Amino acid sequence: MKTALTEVVQQATWGKEVEQILRACVHCGFCTAVCPTYQLLGNELDSPRGRIYLIKSCLEGNPVGLETQRHLDLCLTCRACETACPSGVQYGRLLDIGRNLIEEQLTRPLKPRLWRWMVRAILSHPRRFNTLLDIGRIFHLILPKTLREKIPPLIKTADWPVPNHTRHMMVLEGCVQPSLVPTINVATARVLDRLGISLLRTSVGCCGALNYHLGAQAEALNQMRRMIDEWWPCLETGTEAIVITASGCGTLVKDYGYLFRDDPQYADKAARVSELTFDISEILIKENISALLPSTPPPHSTKKVALHIPCSLRHGQKQEGLIESLLTQFGFELTAVADNFTCCGSAGAYSILYPTISQQLRENKLTALQAGEPQVIATANIGCQIHLQSQSPIPVRHWIELIADRLDNRLLVSQRKNRL
Ligand code: SF4
Ligand code: SF4
Repeated sequence: MKTALTEVVQQATWGKEVEQILRACVHCGFCTAVCPTYQLLGNELDSPRGRIYLIKSCLEGNPVGLETQRHLDLCLTCRACETACPSGVQYGRLLDIGRNLIEEQLTRPLKPRLWRWMVRAILSHPRRFNTLLDIGRIFHLILPKTLREKIPPLIKTADWPVPNHTRHMMVLEGCVQPSLVPTINVATARVLDRLGISLLRTSVGCCGALNYHLGAQAEALNQMRRMIDEWWPCLETGTEAIVITASGCGTLVKDYGYLFRDDPQYADKAARVSELTFDISEILIKENISALLPSTPPPHSTKKVALHIPCSLRHGQKQEGLIESLLTQFGFELTAVADNFTCCGSAGAYSILYPTISQQLRENKLTALQAGEPQVIATANIGCQIHLQSQSPIPVRHWIELIADRLDNRLLVSQRKNRL
């Protein structure tokens, strides 16, 4: 694609990068076939190719309006288009730059501006979120449906294992996950404990993803700096890795190195943080969790699971096959799921900001997930889990909880055998 970028854009630190991205696009349109918003809305401007044109037009100095901003806002940032693109166009990077530029040039109307501010002010601050969640649980019957369905019941958790191993890793607790489904990180700690690794808790905080994708990039970068400052002393004193159980957060933390590449104070630390950040599935494969498996799977152990790999893991981290392999090794039967590369509609705060599109995508996804009559739906990101669970007749769980339960059952069986 030919470009005529403005002088200002060419001089920007990201000027060369956007030029390369735009030049790589050959307008073939392969990406449109996999784009959920194009499939639902049927408008070229709500497709990746259309959005690339809009961003290019903005970078060439043409005036932009609220309509352009809305087409970019409606993107789910699922990045399925990147996976489908034969030319390797880095659409996600281009979108971040385009959204940020337009955010700087335009002022949104008051209502959407306030709504977005409120979403950011609550969801990325764990204390505020906790307080409102407690209130929401008390008054859930009078809440609007879109909020009510996002409030899961209180869950009792097992104890966090005592950190008594010499090997240790730390977990990104996340901003909403510890209050919504606290069992996920406890299950992770239990599984790692069985591998001889203590999982350390860090103070609950936001990795910056929510603000970053809602056009508040300066605030997001400050949140990222706080995370790096918190983790750095642990990484310097022997903590082996940062373990992520929410793939949406993982995608961004793995990108810290790129985002701080021009920051003299944080570039090296951010690169190291990204290097040491792993999704829990990557850790379990690396640590050979299958060695803990019984030589023959226990009888009656097969459970039919429909697996939803979040877009952040599949398209963002380009990770495929690990969770499938782990669940199969642990005796779970994975059911076939059609269109499994398509977004479920959760997409961070998207389900709150654009409920109509989000709910349609959820309906399609739940139909596909239930086709094989699974007993449980498993996923790897808190946002997808809460979004799907709100309308699913069968339980939706994080896959690590299934593995933890199976390991605990095995332990119980072997303890019973020892007692006989
Ligand atoms: S598939 Fe890639 S090259 Fe083709 S139009 Fe989409 S972004 Fe451009
Ligand atoms: S990120 Fe997803 S929604 Fe956005 S343009 Fe690409 S495929 Fe479409």
